[in-house]
Amino acid sequence: MLLSRLKPRAQIMQKNWRGNESLKMEVMAILMTLLGTQNQLKKRKGNEMFITQLNQMTALQKIERAHVELMAHKDTMEYAGVIMVGKYTVDENIPTACTNGIDCRYGKAFINTLSESDLRGLILHENLHKAFQHTFLWRHLYEQNPKVANMACDYVINLIIKDIDKASGGFVTLPKQGLVDERFRGMNSQEVFNLLMDEGGGGGGGGGQPLDEHDWESGEQLTEQEVEQVMKEIDQALRQGQMLAGKMGGRQTRELGELLEPKVRWQDKLRDYLSSFAEGKDVSTWQRVNRRWLQHDMYMPSTISESMGRIVIGVDTSGSIGGQELNAFLSEVKSICENVRPELIDLLYWDTEVAAHEVYSREDMDKLVAKTKPAGGGGTIAACVPQYIKERGIKPECVVMLTDGYIGDWGKWEQPVLWCIVNGSRGNAPVGQTIHVD
Ligand SMILES: [Zn+2]
Repeated sequence: MLLSRLKPRAQIMQKNWRGNESLKMEVMAILMTLLGTQNQLKKRKGNEMFITQLNQMTALQKIERAHVELMAHKDTMEYAGVIMVGKYTVDENIPTACTNGIDCRYGKAFINTLSESDLRGLILHENLHKAFQHTFLWRHLYEQNPKVANMACDYVINLIIKDIDKASGGFVTLPKQGLVDERFRGMNSQEVFNLLMDEGGGGGGGGGQPLDEHDWESGEQLTEQEVEQVMKEIDQALRQGQMLAGKMGGRQTRELGELLEPKVRWQDKLRDYLSSFAEGKDVSTWQRVNRRWLQHDMYMPSTISESMGRIVIGVDTSGSIGGQELNAFLSEVKSICENVRPELIDLLYWDTEVAAHEVYSREDMDKLVAKTKPAGGGGTIAACVPQYIKERGIKPECVVMLTDGYIGDWGKWEQPVLWCIVNGSRGNAPVGQTIHVD
């Protein structure tokens, strides 16, 4: 009953899945009902009815059934959305399985040799390649060494399958060909790749072959926009799966959470932060003509943030922030200040105390990067900055601190503070706001 209800749906999904929002919602609704249905079936009959059917199923039916089971099981439901992206087909010419990052092909003979849990493991393997966008993100590794790139990607996802196997009591198992090595735990494909290359190009340990084929080539035929579209779709599918797992109390893999963190450029965060102090203080002035309107022969006042006061930039000179990074950061600050136009910038260099204090007015702000002379080194006590500000009676709108984040005393702050952490700890500061600069 489970299958007959879902099969026609599965066919629709194959054809129209891409970009069809209402269909996606419908599928999610079906999934929710299925979860209930499956529990009821289990209560009444155990698994008997599935077992009798299994012998008569075609390879495609087995795959479809495994899809439903994966989408309904609490340890794998977070992949429900990803499973439904792209097409899946059975192919006589594929030895095991193959994915290009969107579609999956399964070898007919191979499918028929697998146990139910191994088949679920194989399907999950292909869908993890899709979820992690391996064929798009790591193409440069493939170009460097296809064999090692294939192995590296497999090592990463097979550890996740192994974890699910353990958590679910064998609901999903990795077919015996799968490459597993505990020493790669916590690494991404690039890190595994580097290690394997250091060891002489993938011969190390048990050696072995990836479980499946990874079709890196067909991605190359897509335009940049098409790739972006696919990645967006996968991203959305992952979010839907996470939502489902969240609602149903399903497993949520940490690595996936990281993948889904919104990727906002630090430059934009810094711009937003500083602009927020200028907002609401804009004044219109007829002294400066708005050039945007001038081209339409209209004289309109300019809006400038005349009343944005001082800002303090505090640069930690003790740690691992190199000259190049400092330059990049200060250039960004300078370009933002051209818009938010603070009255003064106080640029402080500090280690255990403030070692240098430079002041730039609106007029000489553009010389900041060229003129500045960093000073200090050794020790990191951020508390010296708010203390210095207080002693000198400086009244900034906000303070931006550039540091590696390995700080003994973060200090007591009377003004808003933004920590820009470079090359350092991934954690957040205990006071104020934090952005990670990379
Ligand atoms: Zn693989």
